[in-house]
Amino acid sequence: MPTEPDTDYDPSLGRKFIFVTGGVMSGLGKGITAASTGRLLKNAGFDVTAVKIDPYLNVDAGTMNPYQHGEVYVLKDGGEVDLDLGNYERFLGVDMTSTHNVTTGKTYQHVIEKERAGDYLGKTVQIIPHVTDDIKRRIREAAEGTDVCLVEVGGTVGDIEGMPYLEALRQFAHEENEEDVLFTHVTLVPYSKNGEQKTKPTQHSIKELRSIGLQPDIVVGRCDDRLEPETKEKIALFGDVPTEAVFSNPDVEDIYEVPLMVESEGLDEYVMERLGLAGEALPAGERKNEWRELVTQEADRKIDVALVGKYALEDAYLSIHEALKHAGLERNVEVNVRWVDSDEMAAAHKERLTGADGIVVPGGFGSRGTRGKLEAVRYAREEGVPYLGLCLGFQMAVVDYARHVCELADAHSTEIDPDTAHPVIDLLPEQYETEDMGGTMRLGAHDTDIQPGTLASEVYGGAKVCTERHRHRYEVNPEYIQQLEAEGLAFSGRAKNRMEILELEDHPFFLGTQFHPEFRSRPGRASPPFVGFVDAVLERTTREVEA
Ligand code: GLN
Repeated sequence: MPTEPDTDYDPSLGRKFIFVTGGVMSGLGKGITAASTGRLLKNAGFDVTAVKIDPYLNVDAGTMNPYQHGEVYVLKDGGEVDLDLGNYERFLGVDMTSTHNVTTGKTYQHVIEKERAGDYLGKTVQIIPHVTDDIKRRIREAAEGTDVCLVEVGGTVGDIEGMPYLEALRQFAHEENEEDVLFTHVTLVPYSKNGEQKTKPTQHSIKELRSIGLQPDIVVGRCDDRLEPETKEKIALFGDVPTEAVFSNPDVEDIYEVPLMVESEGLDEYVMERLGLAGEALPAGERKNEWRELVTQEADRKIDVALVGKYALEDAYLSIHEALKHAGLERNVEVNVRWVDSDEMAAAHKERLTGADGIVVPGGFGSRGTRGKLEAVRYAREEGVPYLGLCLGFQMAVVDYARHVCELADAHSTEIDPDTAHPVIDLLPEQYETEDMGGTMRLGAHDTDIQPGTLASEVYGGAKVCTERHRHRYEVNPEYIQQLEAEGLAFSGRAKNRMEILELEDHPFFLGTQFHPEFRSRPGRASPPFVGFVDAVLERTTREVEA
């Protein structure tokens, strides 16, 4: 259980906080702006972390629909969180925990539990101070042991749900030393029909912020292009900030370019100056440069990968797209992802599948789209196309093998067909015995023992154990393992009686993982199964990069 408000908290610890709010509309890329600022501070030698505040009433993102919210990102401690946390982990190169995702559900649940336990000693329990105290405590806890903590408030200033958070941040700033806290407001600067950059929406959202008692220190304008000097001046005048504190964050092709973009505007230098960090920062010439090197390298080859999923939305499989990109960066190839709808598998989709250089079947829940996923696995297996199956993609590979090689007609996962004659994917007996509601999820980082001399071992560079993140409920049914293995499907990674990695010998690259390696992939530290997959694709095909 987390500790209670820290009355001994000492603001002179000198830890720095950057609060990031958004104006005008959501989906502006506040998170990427914040993560990019963080990356530059990291390059300058600081220990940086981040907190994402999600003002919704859900306790976590675990039950949220990827179609509305994008993927559920999984942390090493098993936290199921908003995909922005994934961006922070990738940009900052850190591992976060559930503490770094504050939701209204978590906060209220905690306060109400304390109320029931009689901890408030008969007081009236209120949003201010009890909820706001809890919010502040969570932020301080997440920032422990770091130099700078970015705190992003989801949603837009003025949303009813966001109010307690903005009030908490106001109090927070009041309690800290003035030079330790910065407010950054990220807003939209649209073009008018005659091509003029319009600042009125920004003016309004700053006004809204000020009416809650918050004055931004920095304003970042999201725009198609860089902000014109006059636009910056106008925002400065009406927003009551110096002109040097107004920055552009124009559209870029790839979000990895955002750190370079905001650096070119001088955002990092300004932040360090204002937070009194300039003296401690590494001199410009000595800063870490890997990010720039990665982002600016030119790919000399290109591959096309089919991603066979049920959500026609890149965000629903964000970490997989990212992991493929990281593997591509590692090998200097551009990875183009072709979307294949597993629900339809209509002619056009089948064509995209058969035209691809490699096939990835991602995770998923429920039966929709599983038939198309099975078709994709079978095609990859029979045609010798490199295959990477992740979680459900691993399970579907088992089902395909059982049906078409072991000749276990209609074999299936009991998640999808509870009455199948051959439940090759099922809950383990102990899950049936000990858990209600058909088994709880296996979440977060767990070890897998890798069998030497296998493709898995090669992919993981000879390591005997890998630690990857999980999010699943069903497992390979132990009763079928012997038969599947006898027919040539090898389980080369295991965690006791749980099958974690599968592979086929007579195939250029056929690898399935019960875990989700995509969540640990980072730019400059690509996930091994993804690199192995890209290597296998490269061995078979490469395409010219169009100039
Ligand atoms: N639905 C499957 C399970 O619960 C797979 C989960 C996933 O792909 N993340 O085991």
